[in-house]
Amino acid sequence: MNYKSYMLNNFRSIPQVQNLPDDVIQAIDVVGNVLPFKTNNYVVENLINWDRVPNDPIFILTFPQKEMLLPHHYKKVESLVKNQASKSEIKAAANEIRLELNPHPAGQLEHNVPMIEGEKLFGMQHKYRETVLFFPSQGQTCHAYCTFCFRWPQFVGMDDLKFASKQAEHLVDYIKEHKEVTDVLFTGGDPLIMKTKHLENYIRPLIEADIENLRNIRIGTKALGYWPYRFTTDDDADDLLSLFEDVKKAGKHLAFMAHFNHSVELEGEAVATAIQRVLNTGAVIRTQSPVLKHINNDPNVWADMWKKQVALGCIPYYMFVARNTGAQHYFSVPLVDAWKLFREAYQSVSGICRTVRGPSMSALPGKIQVLGVSDIGNQKVITLRMIQGRNPDWAAKPFFAEYDEDAIWYTDLKPAFDKDKFFFQGELDKMLTPSEIEVDFE
Ligand SMILES: *Cc1c(COP(=O)(O)O)cnc(C)c1O
Ligand code: SF4
Repeated sequence: MNYKSYMLNNFRSIPQVQNLPDDVIQAIDVVGNVLPFKTNNYVVENLINWDRVPNDPIFILTFPQKEMLLPHHYKKVESLVKNQASKSEIKAAANEIRLELNPHPAGQLEHNVPMIEGEKLFGMQHKYRETVLFFPSQGQTCHAYCTFCFRWPQFVGMDDLKFASKQAEHLVDYIKEHKEVTDVLFTGGDPLIMKTKHLENYIRPLIEADIENLRNIRIGTKALGYWPYRFTTDDDADDLLSLFEDVKKAGKHLAFMAHFNHSVELEGEAVATAIQRVLNTGAVIRTQSPVLKHINNDPNVWADMWKKQVALGCIPYYMFVARNTGAQHYFSVPLVDAWKLFREAYQSVSGICRTVRGPSMSALPGKIQVLGVSDIGNQKVITLRMIQGRNPDWAAKPFFAEYDEDAIWYTDLKPAFDKDKFFFQGELDKMLTPSEIEVDFE
């Protein structure tokens, strides 16, 4: 299939869009000036059920919706668009609004940046001991943009991304020097937006360097969901699969961290064939998604998603909590509700699907999992634990917060039992400067 991408300037040419009510089209136009918007012909033709629009989950996943902006922000841009304001006027208003949406103004690739010989390795992050994140410079866009994505500032050009020169060489040197690193995770954007010949420039040196401590090469991608032809009929699909095979031949484990937000993305022949071809190379596919209001906040959707993933040969891995940025007000589900949803879905599937962990917040101190609501003594509390910690010693140690059914992020929670802080807080404060804001992998 030929790739056709749609953005603000050409989405009106989509035949199904032409049949939508005017106010829905208008909302795409208004919100799409502030938040990133990009979709493609596979999403439009195969994933969206147009009979269900505007309530279709995949439509909401890739098309901007009116309520994604706060009412006063919406009104402001709407009046500019209606009055045919100049591009620069609209852009100035959009930037003002973006700054109010917690966009990580310091640039999201500037935290947890490792150093080598006194040089900052931009395009890498090293937060958890075993795993280095690597952001290849050509992989910082996607086949379509998810409306919930916390990387939105980079897609609207707000973040001035920096990359180290000779990125691939530095990655090899860094992992060689850091024997504690067992995993490198390629992320973006979506690294599989890259042509195979570009991806190869990063992966081949890694396997040729034959680094003993490097065990796992991981690729974070949504290509299976948004463009499965990347693995089947694209010009360089076969080369991509050969590259994967070579990773395996070099004795490294190859893991796909695949993003699927709804079970619809697992239906149809294209994705099944793509998954099978990836698995045939010896790679393993693990899956993850946040819980999102309007898209998947339904235990049946999750149970269905996990069952379909397992049937196709994938391993359910993480359920996340929507992050505190962008249109969080639109997508967020309270922590207690996310846990109830997790529990209901988890209870309805067999053990083979229960490899999944969640709901988990990728937060400043670590990946914090909501274990559930407990009664301890006579007090109702929320039990949490870290799956990953900035200090590895923090992992797998339960801790408690006062029950709060409105909390949507760990920073909304108060420590239980009259403690003034959570057990990790003192150490965390010493590790970071106050200006450091959280920046994480999805
Ligand atoms: C989630 C995450 C990882 C990978 O964690 P795993 O639990 O090993 O999958 C690595 N680095 C960062 C910054 C992360 O947020
Ligand atoms: S969630 Fe992943 S695929 Fe979606 S826009 Fe963000 S980086 Fe791209």
